[in-house]
Amino acid sequence: MTSTDDQHDWRTDGVRVIKGNQLDPNTPQTPGMNRQAAIDHARVGAQKIWAGTVTIHPNAKTGAHHHGALESVIYVVRGKARMRWGERLEFVAEADAGDFIYVPPYVPHQEINASPFEAALAALDRGGLEPLDATVSMFREALVRENHTLKRALTDPRLFSGIGNAYSDEILHAARLSPLKLTRSLADDEIERLHAAVRDTLALWIDQLRQELAGQFPEKVTAFRERMAVHGRFRQPCPVCGAPVQRIVYAENECNYCARCQTGGRLLADRSLSRLLKDDWPRRLEE
Ligand SMILES: [Zn+2]
Repeated sequence: MTSTDDQHDWRTDGVRVIKGNQLDPNTPQTPGMNRQAAIDHARVGAQKIWAGTVTIHPNAKTGAHHHGALESVIYVVRGKARMRWGERLEFVAEADAGDFIYVPPYVPHQEINASPFEAALAALDRGGLEPLDATVSMFREALVRENHTLKRALTDPRLFSGIGNAYSDEILHAARLSPLKLTRSLADDEIERLHAAVRDTLALWIDQLRQELAGQFPEKVTAFRERMAVHGRFRQPCPVCGAPVQRIVYAENECNYCARCQTGGRLLADRSLSRLLKDDWPRRLEE
């Protein structure tokens, strides 16, 4: 599968077309917007880029943020986008359908739909650390850069590309780690276990997706998630231990986990969780 393999199967490892109706909503979301991945590691094995679409609701805007070391390109497909940037968002520019926007690393900015009536649609490209290619030490470095819950750190696109809500649940279950455990509290063997779980889980789903697309199944990407271990399986038995899968509902997110496998049997209460997570739910990034 890597470019150093001697044997290539160009039929399955070659050029890929991702149809507009096969985009994957399992990617970090922001209120007022819908983001869908087209090109990422999970879908096509992309190593250094992420591409997809974002629909910005009328009048919606992001908070001020930056994308860390990542470079981003936005292409406006429909509507009018307004960008503000600078330490106090003091600079403004607008882009119409057909225009490109380049966002350099670390520039504080805000994206706004400049129309009160019309949704804006943009295509997005950006770089990111590819978790499948990260060594344990690269992975550790990104993970403990800030002290956050594992759930948030794994789904932070500034740290890792291509791990959305669903895959992060599956990864944490495979690693037998609580979604609320803080990144800086992890022991070395836990980091190694998590690193292995990221690679195994993503590789598994890449393979499943390939088989599915090669078989030309017309179903949407969501259908194959029925085979996941915990994600989207509230109250169903954990495939490892048989205990019912639990969930945490927070804002528009849901996190699924197995208490027996991941939290020593402890249930993570929604209410105490909201307090704990207040500023630490998966980041509402960005674009
Ligand atoms: Zn279990």
